[in-house]
Amino acid sequence: MMVHAHPDDESIVTGATLAKYAAEGARVTLVTCTLGEEGEVIPADLAHLTSDREDTLGEYRVGELDRACVALGVRDHRFLGGPGHYRDSGMMGGPANGHPRAFWGADVEEAARRLAEIIREVRPHVLVSYDEHGGYGHPDHVQAHRVTRRACAKANERAMPGTPWQVGKLYAIAQPVSRIEESIARLNEEAGPFTPPQEVSDIARGTPDPVVTTRVDATDHWAAKALAMRAHATQITVDGERFALSNGIAQEIDAVEHFTLLMGPPPKAGEDGYESDLFAGL
Ligand SMILES: [Zn+2]
Repeated sequence: MMVHAHPDDESIVTGATLAKYAAEGARVTLVTCTLGEEGEVIPADLAHLTSDREDTLGEYRVGELDRACVALGVRDHRFLGGPGHYRDSGMMGGPANGHPRAFWGADVEEAARRLAEIIREVRPHVLVSYDEHGGYGHPDHVQAHRVTRRACAKANERAMPGTPWQVGKLYAIAQPVSRIEESIARLNEEAGPFTPPQEVSDIARGTPDPVVTTRVDATDHWAAKALAMRAHATQITVDGERFALSNGIAQEIDAVEHFTLLMGPPPKAGEDGYESDLFAGL
């Protein structure tokens, strides 16, 4: 089970992993916390959807996420609390932080109770969300981390002693600094349609390499990830092997995805120094 903040996050940072495990027959569940109502719309012909009073963008993005799930082979998708229960909080410090339904302002205990209910129903062996910095620091990503950690603890508390099921592993999505630096070098070698990034922070906050425990090589599922990203056309422009968000900065579509183990049996690293399977050791 993966818990993401907005529609498109699942595809950008974990699309290849989701596609890989779905293709291998794992029962994959995606929980999205908001509809992404505050997203910046890229295509000029869809500009009318931008953050209006009726939250038309959120509604539209439900359709984009549906198509992305089809591309990834994810058949079980839910919105935390139902569609629109929690609203996109926008960037840190922005006015949408204070919206009455903003996920950022939600009671963590209450949101965790809702997520724990889904966890107890689905009984995932592995749970994936963000680290305490929320990846790049978006308030909804930070909140998704808090809610997932708490929900995981709640669900496991309630698991009766002696019953066979508990969440066995909890992971945070990671973007190793070294991987981003290598990508920046390639993006500057060859000109493309987007602005080449100059430093790590142009692309992501970056996870310090020593903290990263796990590398899922889902290269065989690159095309599924690219297709899922294309489904989020309001948020992502895809051009060949590259893409850009609304800032226009070039990034590579990477089907090798990284994670940091937050809870579970100590990872056994392979020759490359990483654990290679989210289910290893269970
Ligand atoms: Zn997001």
